Order: sequence, then structure tokens, then C-alpha cells
Amino acid sequence: MDNFFTVQPTHPEEPFLLAADIDGTLLGDEPGETMLKTFVKKHASAFRLAYVTGRYRFSVLQLVEAGRLPRPDYICSDVGTELFDLHDPQNNLGQKFWSQVAPEWNLEAIYLRGEGEGVWRQDFGESQPPFQAGFFWNGNPETLEAFFARLGKDDSYHIYPSYGEFIDVLPAPLGKGNVVRFLQKELGVTESRVIVAGDSGNDRQMFETGFKGIIPVNALEELKEVASQPWHYHSPLPAARGVFDGLRHFGLIDGFHGD
Ligand SMILES: [Mg+2]
Repeated sequence: MDNFFTVQPTHPEEPFLLAADIDGTLLGDEPGETMLKTFVKKHASAFRLAYVTGRYRFSVLQLVEAGRLPRPDYICSDVGTELFDLHDPQNNLGQKFWSQVAPEWNLEAIYLRGEGEGVWRQDFGESQPPFQAGFFWNGNPETLEAFFARLGKDDSYHIYPSYGEFIDVLPAPLGKGNVVRFLQKELGVTESRVIVAGDSGNDRQMFETGFKGIIPVNALEELKEVASQPWHYHSPLPAARGVFDGLRHFGLIDGFHGD
């Protein structure tokens, strides 16, 4: 890992946007986690960092406070249905993002229609996100098919199964891919300088945006099989090392050798 300290952004004067999932993508490989912290400390001005995760905001902030993850610029939590700008206590960007949801969005109605054989609602208690209907699923393709049938054709939301265990229903304008697209436009980052990274089915929307994408070697098949465009890079390295390898592949950093 000695060579890591030679890692440099290739164009520090033109910041890129790294929008990355947390679990299995930035966390899960210790050398990679150390690299990430060091890189952010040394080169924070050369890029914008957004965590795009299924976790809720406070759980992300706990990881940051505990020193496990560097402090990002943005937290896109609850599967990209929430956006927090850590530089703005008013969170104007987040307000603007949520304002895209149609007034007809009805969480309870989705929970009522969604429950059925092999699919039951996740109890978030008081931390129920306003724009994410979360279900547990028994992993059976037939129960998923029946779930899709119960919800019916409706353009106002998207359905994302993941890990063979979860199903998320999100308002159509939100989600992991849409929040990255929103950030790219709001921040005025050139499309070619946006990189997404993820490891499971709930990252899928990020890989449907057309942005360059990084898939670490530990990613699940459910994502690997949809992330198959020429602008998707499948790294032979795990988690955060895979992400650095991808940044090297796309020419955003140099001096990285992966060990
Ligand atoms: Mg993940």
C-alpha cells in the first residue's frame, strides 16, 4: 500500500463527482477504506463526494463520526430518496430535490397494496423515510411477480428488488440514479466527470443513467448482469480498492497500483 501515497487526481483544477454506495462499495475492504480516508484528506478540493446509500442519514453520520468514513459533501440516503448538502444547514438542494415528487405519492397505499404472500412491510418505526416504501421479500421469483402484479402499471414509482431479500418502491423522480443526475446538473459537473459505484441491485438506477460506473469484484450478480455497458468498469479488486481502480481506469487519478 506504500504506493498509495503517489495517487493523484489527474485534473485537480476540474473537480469530478464520485457518487458511491457505502456497504460493499466503500466499506468492506480495509486497505481500501484507509486509501479513501487518506485520499479525501489530501485531495478534497479535487472532487465532490456523495454517499448514495440505503442507510438512513444518521447511520451514515455515525460512520463519519466514528472515523470509519471520511466526511462527504453530500449524503443521499434512504436509497437516494433523501439528499443532504452537508455544507448548507438549510439544505436548499434537498428541498429542491424532494419538491419533484408528485403530491399523489401515497406511502400507505403502496404498503397496503404491496403486502402479500412472501412480501411484508419493513417496520422502520419513527425513522420511516417519507419517500421509500420498504418490504422484506422471501426471494422467490413468483412472489416478486405477484408483487409487481399487485402494484400494477404505474409511472409514478419505481420498484427495486435487492439481495433477494428486499424490495423498495420509490417515487419515480427520486432514487439513486436520479439523485446523482440531479447533483450533476445542480453542481454543473460535466457528464464525463461523473462516476457512480455500487455493488447490489438497489444501485441499479445509478447504472441506468449513462454515467461511467464502477463495479467492485465483490458485487452481486444481480448488479453485475445489468451493469454491462461499455462505460461500466468491472474491477478485479474489492470494494474501495475497486473504486480507486475504476477511477484510474477512467483517467481521473494516476499513481494507483492496487496493492
Ligand atoms: Mg451496497
